[in-house]
Amino acid sequence: MDSSKLFQKFVGYTKDILFELDTEGYFTSVNTEGLKLLGYEKEEFIGKHFLEFIRPDFKRQAQDFVLSQECEKENTLFEFPVITAQGEELWLEQYVVAVCSDNTIIGYKGIARNVTRFKLAEEELKESKQSAEDLNLQLEKTIERANEIAAKAETDNIAKSNFLANMSHEIRTPMNGVLGMIDLLLDTGLDAEQRDYCETAHKSADSLLRIINDILDFSKLEANKFEIENIDFDLRTTVEDVSDELAHRVYEKNLEFICFMNPDVPSRLKGDPGRIRQILRNLVGNAVKFTEQGEIAVRVLLEKEEETRAMLRFEVKDTGIGITKKGQNRLFQSFSQVDASTTRKYGGTGLGLAISKKLSEMMHGQIGVESKKGTGSTFWFTAVLDKQSDAQNVAPVTPASIQNKRILVVGENSTNREVICTYLKSWGCLYQDVSDEYDAFTALNTAVDSGSPFELIVFDQITVDAQTEKFGKRVKEDPRLNSVQLVLLTSLGKRGDPARLQQVGFAAYLSKPIKIKLLQDCFTTVFSEEYIAQAGKNPIITRHSLAEAQRAQEDKTVTEIHHDARILLAEDNPVNQKLAVKLLTKVGYVVEVVNNGKEALAALEDKEFDMVLMDVQMPEMDGFEATAAIRNPKSKVKDHDIPIIAMTANAMKEDRQHCLNEGMDDYISKPINKQRLIEVVERQLTAPRKKHSLPDDDITLGENAIF
Ligand code: ADP
Repeated sequence: MDSSKLFQKFVGYTKDILFELDTEGYFTSVNTEGLKLLGYEKEEFIGKHFLEFIRPDFKRQAQDFVLSQECEKENTLFEFPVITAQGEELWLEQYVVAVCSDNTIIGYKGIARNVTRFKLAEEELKESKQSAEDLNLQLEKTIERANEIAAKAETDNIAKSNFLANMSHEIRTPMNGVLGMIDLLLDTGLDAEQRDYCETAHKSADSLLRIINDILDFSKLEANKFEIENIDFDLRTTVEDVSDELAHRVYEKNLEFICFMNPDVPSRLKGDPGRIRQILRNLVGNAVKFTEQGEIAVRVLLEKEEETRAMLRFEVKDTGIGITKKGQNRLFQSFSQVDASTTRKYGGTGLGLAISKKLSEMMHGQIGVESKKGTGSTFWFTAVLDKQSDAQNVAPVTPASIQNKRILVVGENSTNREVICTYLKSWGCLYQDVSDEYDAFTALNTAVDSGSPFELIVFDQITVDAQTEKFGKRVKEDPRLNSVQLVLLTSLGKRGDPARLQQVGFAAYLSKPIKIKLLQDCFTTVFSEEYIAQAGKNPIITRHSLAEAQRAQEDKTVTEIHHDARILLAEDNPVNQKLAVKLLTKVGYVVEVVNNGKEALAALEDKEFDMVLMDVQMPEMDGFEATAAIRNPKSKVKDHDIPIIAMTANAMKEDRQHCLNEGMDDYISKPINKQRLIEVVERQLTAPRKKHSLPDDDITLGENAIF
């Protein structure tokens, strides 16, 4: 009795539900806690079937669980939800055992615990796990999509670059025709008016080509399709080429043009001369465009030097309209011009500086500007360039004949005087500079009085005028001074000037911008023994006579034009065919034309030629395929090592290398420039033959071999 009471007491305290069922599953007893939890009175509860309380979707499982109990069987826990009298859902964890007598089930006893709290927590956990999984799934999908987009972008980029290459070809081909035909027209007998029209057309076509090039370059830079070349080149020639190219535009506007490379700048470098030229051309072009009076000065300075490389600074200074601080901040961005009125007045695409910025950055440099509105601007950029080996970079030796010579520099423009004096200093001359004729005579007379008279006067003037002659006459007619040599530097020469000045007694007449080599050659000539021996009988020295003398010097190495060379021209475009044939036959070459690679092979099997000019893009068989076939010793062409010059409108850098890799010898880009074409053809005709064809064993013919 005691223990039964004690047990009842425990049962009374427990928070669990204790219950008994009959064999059918009807409640026969339940503790108070159970009634409280489920919200029933005892009378209502006893006699009810346990399934009544189970949530409908769990009824079946619950029944199976209870009815599966057997006598003396290990029991398991089971969880299911019940509905209270208030309609609330509770999760119970049940433990049920079968009550047996003589191994027969006579009812069930059970204990159930309210685990709603844990269940909810568990459910929440499950839910958040689920949402985490959902999120993960979403993320994976997003990544997949992002990858798809990236892959598409990549393809788009490739498509864009290919499109650019094609565009480049498509646009340049007709431009080649336009420019070339105008060139030919200009060589015919035109009257002044016709010539003027033609020249204007040429100028317009030229600026159109420049704009197209800018746009193409810019797109290539955007598509990261731009590469910087690393070839040996001479910086002085590169800079002088740009100044020669632009000089007439500068002088047309009556501006002074100074082009100066500091003597300490190494000239034999490795890098991309084309890109340096492009930036300089753009900066000088802008300077000319935005300057109405004064001067434009291009300077190349050494910023830093190491054993194998050098950082150079290029400056283009003008005395033009200048740019406000605000305007300066907007420069170097694509399509950006300082203001709309500037654009209307001066035109332009606003791409030049953005391209220049990218190019200088690709050469590990920077670009910038210092400017003041109304005063002028100095645009600068830097570039790091490798030096060619030391042996090639030794400073040129100054001829002994000009060292220690006493030179007087006369000229109004101080920048020009400074440039000339820097050269004179580097040659070991003794020099003085003055800004006008009055000071010049004072200096000349003082020098005579001191016993060391000047031996040469460099007289720098924009135009040759009456004053030039007057100055020359005064010097030459003065017995104290007349042994001095007179060298005139001028920008705007006119026909007849040299002859007149020779009469006056000038020794040389050189057009600007000043070139260090030309000036040095001029001095060397004037101070040479032959010149002095012939005093009074020497013809006036001009840049042409110096160039001719130079050419005569080199004549031993340069062979004259091969007038009778036989050239095979493979080109499909009829306009280009016509143009190239005209240019080549004019020089005297014998030209045969074919329309594609296949015809070229047939011609080369049939006849002997000295060279092939091969267009790259042709129908039926393109230039590369044709070249491969020519170089293949198993093909029937007569000469497997014949020089092949590629002609392509794809002026992309990689094309050049591509052509050389494909077994071609040289490369010329369209639009074809007359001078350049002849130069390349002559170079290949005189160069030692390159052995291209591989030994027989190295060649395996593919299935598609065409012979
Ligand atoms: P574009 O000259 O084709 O418009 P650029 O990128 O070369 O494009 O130049 C952008 C702008 O920078 C010009 O339109 C002009 O407003 C300004 N600018 C460039 N160079 C000079 C200069 N030397 N003097 C004054 N303004 C200049």
